[in-house]
Amino acid sequence: MVIATAGTTVYGAYDPIVHITPICKQNGLWLHVDGAWGGSVALTRKYRHLLEGIENADSMTWNAHKMMGVSQQCSIILTNHKGLLMNCHSAKAQYLFQSDKHYDVSYDTGDMSLQCGRRNDVLKLWLAWKAIGDEGMERDVEHIFELSRYLATQVEKRESEGFRLIMKPMCTNVCFWYIPSRLREKDETPEWWEQIGKHTQTIKERMMRAGSMMITYNPEGSRVNFFRMVTANKDSTFSDMDFVLDEIVRLGNDL
Ligand SMILES: *Cc1c(COP(=O)(O)O)cnc(C)c1O
Repeated sequence: MVIATAGTTVYGAYDPIVHITPICKQNGLWLHVDGAWGGSVALTRKYRHLLEGIENADSMTWNAHKMMGVSQQCSIILTNHKGLLMNCHSAKAQYLFQSDKHYDVSYDTGDMSLQCGRRNDVLKLWLAWKAIGDEGMERDVEHIFELSRYLATQVEKRESEGFRLIMKPMCTNVCFWYIPSRLREKDETPEWWEQIGKHTQTIKERMMRAGSMMITYNPEGSRVNFFRMVTANKDSTFSDMDFVLDEIVRLGNDL
C-alpha cells in the first residue's frame, strides 16, 4: 500500500494525490490518505483543490476533533470499498449480533467495528454539522485558513523585527523563527543557529510562565527549533494573530 498525507503534522504539507493515484492503479496498490489534520479542506470550495484526486483513493482518515472543533475524540475512516469493515472485523458471534431482528440490521455497526463496547463518537460530528450546516463548516475552515495566510504575511512583513518565515503555508501551519535583536545581521554560523534554537525554547517557556500563549515549537531535519503556530480555532481573530507576534517580540527581544 501507499500512504499519502493531506496536511502533515509539522509543515501542513499536502502530497500531490492526483499524481500518486495513477501509479497505485498501475501497480495494484491500495492508496490510503492520512487526512487527520488537513482533510477538512474537503468542506470548502476554496481549498478542496489540495485534495485533488482523492476520489480515486481507497481510503482516507479524517479527524473532526482537530480543525472542526468537535471535542476529542472523533476520528473517521472513509472508504469506497463497501463491506470492507464487515469483511475485516466481523466475528459473526451469534450471542452478540443477531441478523434476524425486526429492523434493518445494516445499520448495526457492532459487527463491523474493531472495537466492541465504545461510545458513539460520530454523534458529536453529526450534531455539529446539523447545527451549522455545510455553509457553517465551510465558513469555519475558510476562516482559519485566512487567519494563517494573514499571520504568514505579517511574519514576512515584520522581517526587520526579527521574524523569518520558513515556507508559505499550504494548510494552517505557520512555521517561523524569531531572531532577537542582538543576533540580527550577524553571520549565520552553526553556533548562531544553535542560539536561535535555544531562544525558541526560552520564549516558549516565557509565554507559558506569563500565561499568555502556548505555541508549539520543534526542530526538523537540519532546521533548529522553530515556532509552529497552527490556527485551528474558528473564534480566533486577525488581531489575535498580531498579538502572537507582538507577544513574541515582548518576551524575546532582550535575549
Ligand atoms: C493528529 C494526526 C494523526 C493522529 O490521529 P489520531 O486520530 O490521534 O490517531 C495522524 N496523522 C496526522 C497527519 C495527524 O496530524
